[in-house]
Amino acid sequence: MFEKILIASRGEIALRIHRACHEMGIETVAVHSTADSEAMHVRLADEAVCIGPPNPAESYLNMPAILSAAEITGAEAIHPGYGFLSENARFADIVAEHGITFIGPSAAHIRLMGDKIAAKAEMRRLGIPVVPGSDGPVTNDADARRIADDIGYPVLVKASAGGGGRGMKVATSAANLSAALSTARAEAAASFGNDELYIEKYLAKPRHIELQVLGDSHGDAVHLGERECSLQRRHQKVLEEARSPVLGAAERKQIGDIVVRAMAEFGYLGAGTIEFLYEDGAFFFIEMNTRLQVEHPVTEAITGLDIVREQIRIADGQPLGYAQKDVTFNGHAIECRINAEDPKTFAPSPGRVTDYHPPGGLGVRVDSGLYAGYRVPPHYDSLIAKLIVHGTSRDECLMRLRRSLEEFVIGGIETTIPLHQRLIADPEFIAGDFHVHWLEQAMTNWG
Ligand code: ADP
Repeated sequence: MFEKILIASRGEIALRIHRACHEMGIETVAVHSTADSEAMHVRLADEAVCIGPPNPAESYLNMPAILSAAEITGAEAIHPGYGFLSENARFADIVAEHGITFIGPSAAHIRLMGDKIAAKAEMRRLGIPVVPGSDGPVTNDADARRIADDIGYPVLVKASAGGGGRGMKVATSAANLSAALSTARAEAAASFGNDELYIEKYLAKPRHIELQVLGDSHGDAVHLGERECSLQRRHQKVLEEARSPVLGAAERKQIGDIVVRAMAEFGYLGAGTIEFLYEDGAFFFIEMNTRLQVEHPVTEAITGLDIVREQIRIADGQPLGYAQKDVTFNGHAIECRINAEDPKTFAPSPGRVTDYHPPGGLGVRVDSGLYAGYRVPPHYDSLIAKLIVHGTSRDECLMRLRRSLEEFVIGGIETTIPLHQRLIADPEFIAGDFHVHWLEQAMTNWG
């Protein structure tokens, strides 16, 4: 087993990885920008190396600086967390070339799944149902029009290199298809440096349901059940739960079997997430994330498995050591993503945290690097805490969430806690009656 791991990330996820390492007796190296010198992930790590200025391009995305930090400290492996370099195939390659283990899948798999057109083709080949759409890139308006006519409007124009909901535009008819294509193309070029586009059927009321998978280097794969991630704003997840309130046992088994068979054939290594849209009883693949997800704790709560520990064990060459039938599910779990943002306008709200009191008690987990006196820097993602509750049922989770949100004190900055309080009081949410476009519509009704 590794003796020292470098964590190439920041914030709550860097802390999360540090915790798994220390439970396994592994020392940690934090890397940080000058804006994060006082961050909790830096304070708790065994060693810390400053890798550059606040701008992520010069620090958390700075490959030479991160590799030097690994070499200087003698780290044998690098955990990339999520975001930053976690889905950068070139980084995975370079890490391996330096004789360091990248804690994640092969660079080839990262590269393939990072190209959403290629990913869909591969999933189709592996027997996974995909969203109807163009089989390859759309290069001109005439082709796009023909494909859109074929699948029927509305259609969604998406970026092949897409992520974070950027480069996505809906066209409701042939009249606004050209405009959707040119806006999406410009956004994709600016965000990803790659303007390749493809077209999908735009589903009216789908749910976002994803499966967590693990594969080892001995050819075995399991799934850890599904997560329901339909509560979204601007295509970004706000609240997630496991399991989905709408799936029945037969459907679960069917999609689980398909995914596990596909991952074993694919030879996938480590933790990954297969994302689907689910509508009228059918699953449609949209993308695979080849990394740890923000929402992984809800799966940990109901399976009792530490997913980061599993990632590290797998990267070390160990077999999973359990089969699908050994993975059991206990109760229900819900996660609220708490952002440093105005809960109404969503304007970022960085600054000094004056008071901090996280909730506790039975079935409550808070993953956060906050403390009183900490200054939330303005340079990074606004996620500052994740509140995860676990209970025997969804109702019990809602009860627990209500009192935990009430208890949570984060003073000095605005947070999205009030948004979650409003959301979990909504009768449609309580009934489990929602889809991916629901939250934005509901928010306009709340006023
Ligand atoms: P990204 O990688 O940018 O996050 P995804 O393909 O994962 O993009 O999609 C993000 C979200 O966008 C989905 O969870 C869903 O809400 C919405 N979405 C994506 N594809 C479709 C579609 N074909 N129809 C309707 N909504 C979609």
